[in-house]
Amino acid sequence: MKKKDPIEGYEKKVLRTIEKYKLIRAGDRVLLALSGGKDSAAAGYLTVKYVREKNLPVDIKVFHINFDIEGLSEKVEEVIRKQAEIFDVPVIIYHVSEMGIDMKRVARLKRPICSSCGVIKRYLMNRIPRELGFNKIVTGHHADDFLTFFFKNVMGENFSWISKFLPLLPGDDKRVARLRPLFFVGGEENRQFCESKGIPYSIEDLCPHVYVSCRIDPTREMWYKFINDISQWRPDFRERMMRGVAKLAVKLPQSDGQLRTCKVCGEPTSTEICAFCRLVKAQEEIEIEPKGK
Ligand code: AMP
Ligand code: ZN
Repeated sequence: MKKKDPIEGYEKKVLRTIEKYKLIRAGDRVLLALSGGKDSAAAGYLTVKYVREKNLPVDIKVFHINFDIEGLSEKVEEVIRKQAEIFDVPVIIYHVSEMGIDMKRVARLKRPICSSCGVIKRYLMNRIPRELGFNKIVTGHHADDFLTFFFKNVMGENFSWISKFLPLLPGDDKRVARLRPLFFVGGEENRQFCESKGIPYSIEDLCPHVYVSCRIDPTREMWYKFINDISQWRPDFRERMMRGVAKLAVKLPQSDGQLRTCKVCGEPTSTEICAFCRLVKAQEEIEIEPKGK
């Protein structure tokens, strides 16, 4: 009997997710949010493959937020351009400096830099696509990310987020829909896939700030190992868990709370002034040079 090719199996699983959850429809305008890493590269590659195989009339482009971090961002942008060339898709790049952010100042805030980066990404990954007229954004979030979050938050008895654990988060007039074609596959599979296809990617931990000030999740790699270890003796662990989680998600009420409009920028938020506008203001107040220079 012919042995199953794991790469082929992986590819089928992702394409089946796009099909089953109706992630893409004719007429959609889709941005592939690429970070430069292996996960978003795999998600982007297979989304493009799906659209082309089905011959769907869909406007599809790569989208990247350049963080203007010296010695890092240029290299990441180069990788993104190579990935987009392989996908044969045009690229849209925005620099955080164009949006009023100075990473040198942000790095000096008390808030850990990874947390500030997260605020900036979440905000710009919604606002820019919407303003450009796109209705969907594809991200590289994968099963290991969701499962890590799942275990940690169940242990912390925090359940409000579970309703968002789905391959498709539909949008509304203020929020673009978020597509997660890698919902049922893990990080290691994404890496193997990129390598088998010769897709270049950058190593996530290239960020010069990570080792000094990232306090977000020092245990992430251990959780990933735990999930990989279980998958060794229970190969369907990820997929079965994620199927269960997705069924749980639709049973729970939406966790948005009261959605409001930011008083400063008009974007959706749960507070009076959104986290992005608060961050912009806080970094403007940081002294970058000592006074008198
Ligand atoms: P992260 O929050 O860094 O784990 O990233 C989650 C997802 O957001 C990635 O898989 C990408 O799809 C997307 N993403 C992260 N960083 C960027 C970026 N700089 N520009 C565009 N998309 C990004
Ligand atoms: Zn705002």
